[in-house]
Amino acid sequence: MEKTLPALVSGTLYLVATPIGNLEDITLRAVRVLKECDVVAAEDTRHTGQLLHHFGISKPMLSYFQFNEAKRGEEILDRLARGEKVALVTDAGTPGISDPGERVVRAALARNLRVEAVPGPCALVAALTASGLPADEFHFAGFLPHKSGQRIHALERLAAVTGTLVFYESPFRVIKLLEELQSLWPRRPVVLMRELTKKFEERLRGTPAELLAHFKTRAVKGEFVALVGPEPKAAPAETPDSEALSGDARE
Ligand code: SAM
Repeated sequence: MEKTLPALVSGTLYLVATPIGNLEDITLRAVRVLKECDVVAAEDTRHTGQLLHHFGISKPMLSYFQFNEAKRGEEILDRLARGEKVALVTDAGTPGISDPGERVVRAALARNLRVEAVPGPCALVAALTASGLPADEFHFAGFLPHKSGQRIHALERLAAVTGTLVFYESPFRVIKLLEELQSLWPRRPVVLMRELTKKFEERLRGTPAELLAHFKTRAVKGEFVALVGPEPKAAPAETPDSEALSGDARE
């Protein structure tokens, strides 16, 4: 563990993870990088402005989101090349995980510019580790496509993947996902991690049919990570030997 805090390095792109619901989850290093950088590139400058304000930080910002990634990416690279320290943040969690970031990181590395992760909150990791499903092997699939045919195709392709599957899902499509899982893998355990790190955080576990029954009685609200565990091992079939033994025992 480093004990002293090195100064930020000129010409570095810092990928700063921010809270996914609980402001206490920001790291000390994230706050320092946001304080000491030259500019914050944010997915939504208003949203990030509130975060900065909460931590008493005032900093120039530029917007960097999915639909201006190419143009703004160039501007970020030019700033890095001039020696500026740029902090990239998204609305919540880790940049580049189902959020903008990957493109500018690749472009920066291609130009031999420095990129540094400032790790912290990530819904995927929080959900997986608290789900109770196997975390030694998992596959993160992010958001499924919206169109039904494409979703089923994507899920079918995941059938061969071993370990736990992890999806981000909008509350508007949670029921659809459960119905799809019910038709494809009715026996696999599903865990829905809802409103992680927030007041109404909740973990719902069951087969797809059980969770569908659960949502007949309440609305689907909040943010969700859906996890699908491996197919349960079949109960050991009784062998002729064991049948004979129990038969013996009854005599
Ligand atoms: N970059 C973020 C991260 O590191 O987790 C993810 C951004 S992605 C656009 C947003 C999705 O992440 C939500 O639709 C939901 O599936 C998941 N998510 C984010 N925050 C969450 C929370 N507090 N509880 C449950 N899921 C959450």
